[in-house]
Amino acid sequence: AKSSGRAQYHVFDPDMHFKAIQILELENDLRRAVEREEFLIYYQPIISLATGKIAGFEALVRWQHPTKGMIPPTEFIPAAEEIGLIYTLNIWIFKTALKQLKIWQKHSAFLENITININLSARLFSYPDFGAVVDNIIAETQVNPSYVELEITESVIMENNDIVRGILQQLKQKKFKLVIDDFGTGYSSLSYLHSFPLNALKIDKSFVKRMQDNQENMGLVPAMIGISHSMGMLTIAEGVETQEQLAQLRTLNCDLAQGFLFSQPLKQELVLDFIASNPQW
Ligand code: C2E
Ligand code: CA
Ligand code: CA
Ligand code: CA
Repeated sequence: AKSSGRAQYHVFDPDMHFKAIQILELENDLRRAVEREEFLIYYQPIISLATGKIAGFEALVRWQHPTKGMIPPTEFIPAAEEIGLIYTLNIWIFKTALKQLKIWQKHSAFLENITININLSARLFSYPDFGAVVDNIIAETQVNPSYVELEITESVIMENNDIVRGILQQLKQKKFKLVIDDFGTGYSSLSYLHSFPLNALKIDKSFVKRMQDNQENMGLVPAMIGISHSMGMLTIAEGVETQEQLAQLRTLNCDLAQGFLFSQPLKQELVLDFIASNPQW
């Protein structure tokens, strides 16, 4: 297929041309956005199913574009990765979210043990100074790393790369928590999972959704929770939208949950209002 593909470069495809221009525009926009700090972090609560209380928040980036409005991360993270901007952006998110965590932890005794979940692009692991940058963030924000959960996708694990393994081990030694995000979508082999120092598996929302359609056997979610617990890890369910799903997850002894049932990702300014609005928290 590779050799026959050559000829295609000579064919003028107006769709592709248009797409190339769009991508160039996005790239220029993104470079400018990083300089002007047009990004915002939203925070989605993660609830402990044992206590019903807020255990922490996941930091989710948004792009406040000057003319196009709020752009979701799925529309710019891949481009930022492609052009090498993800490093600066993801480090900014990391530092900003930890500063915010410190503010909340100091705000009341009630919040002093909450955690923050940070999504890390796989690309970060190929920068040799990543470890040093993380140390700087901790020194600057004075956050205890044991309150920081780093979310990485299964593909990072599946590469079985010694460099990545070394970095994850270092992060673990520094007391960060490591979470596999979107568990179940990346076909990771269980023996690989077992050989990494992981604290939790986050079940992808597609499986939580299917649990509903599949009343009798609840799909794959029970097996995933079983795997997680048998490896001594916690389980987080994402995309929880209904009371029914919540009840099923409780029955299955899932540890933590997040989703629109509890809250959408919130603007930073709305987080304390949200906490105050529910006496249970
Ligand atoms: P993710 O890490 O799997 O994040 C979960 C996504 O599910 C978020 O989308 C969240 O808003 C959405 N969500 C939360 N609750 C529900 C629910 O009940 N139902 C449904 N249908 N969706 C729900 P969002 O914020 O658009 O983020 C999309 C993806 O972008 C994230 O997926 C993550 O892979 C990436 N991303 C977001 N922020 C960052 C970041 O700071 N750094 C990096 N590297 N990637 C990020
Ligand atoms: Ca995530
Ligand atoms: Ca996820
Ligand atoms: Ca996802």
